[in-house]
Amino acid sequence: MTDNALSASLTHARERLTHALIDAQRPENDASLLAVSKTKPAAMIRQAWSLGQREFGENYLQEALDKQAELVDLDDIVWHFIGPLQSNKTRAVAEHFAWMHSVDRLKIAKRLSEQRPEHLPPLNVCIQVNISREESKSGVMPDDVAPLAEAIASLPNLALRGLMAIPAPAEGLDAQRAPLAQLRELLQALQTSLPDAPLDTLSMGMTDDLEAAVLEGATLVRLGTAIFGARNTT
Ligand SMILES: *Cc1c(COP(=O)(O)O)cnc(C)c1O
Repeated sequence: MTDNALSASLTHARERLTHALIDAQRPENDASLLAVSKTKPAAMIRQAWSLGQREFGENYLQEALDKQAELVDLDDIVWHFIGPLQSNKTRAVAEHFAWMHSVDRLKIAKRLSEQRPEHLPPLNVCIQVNISREESKSGVMPDDVAPLAEAIASLPNLALRGLMAIPAPAEGLDAQRAPLAQLRELLQALQTSLPDAPLDTLSMGMTDDLEAAVLEGATLVRLGTAIFGARNTT
């Protein structure tokens, strides 16, 4: 992808988000754009950064750490880890990311809290929910969210910010909206049961369901393909 193409696709993605917020009758800037840069080179991240993008999402730990090392000079960049994580890899996430979207068990959360360096603010975390109840997919089942959230909310070095989901692919706005509405309702229930937790984030909406997600209250949309083009297969 050329620099010009990236500039055009980033502009287009921002316009899509702006229009989706207008259609949903929500305030502008009520949701922000997380640029999902997995498989894309550090140079593209740098280019997106030069165009004003600050929040980036990565799925593969070693790839992310390599790119972070190349981009250390971008001191206001905000790194989000959004992929599956083995419990023996938590330390690198605790040390090198501002956000972790894919917490799906207490063991991972406890390790992240223990390993978060003291000089950093609490690690922002979202619980990943298997909202479409798919076999062998990541995330906790909807019924298990409340007890996990309560336990995570008590961990000292984490800030429980909200919920994340990757719904099963669906055709059409209404079919896309149904699971996203369920995620919103789960967050609303947590906001009531855990009033002291900083629960302000619905991490949902990707290239194919951004509009549905914004209609259902997404606050952080995770766009990969729409910004960087089709994934590189390595
Ligand atoms: C890859 C990925 C995305 C981006 O998906 P697109 O369809 O390319 O926008 C968003 N969220 C997660 C968790 C991902 O793994």
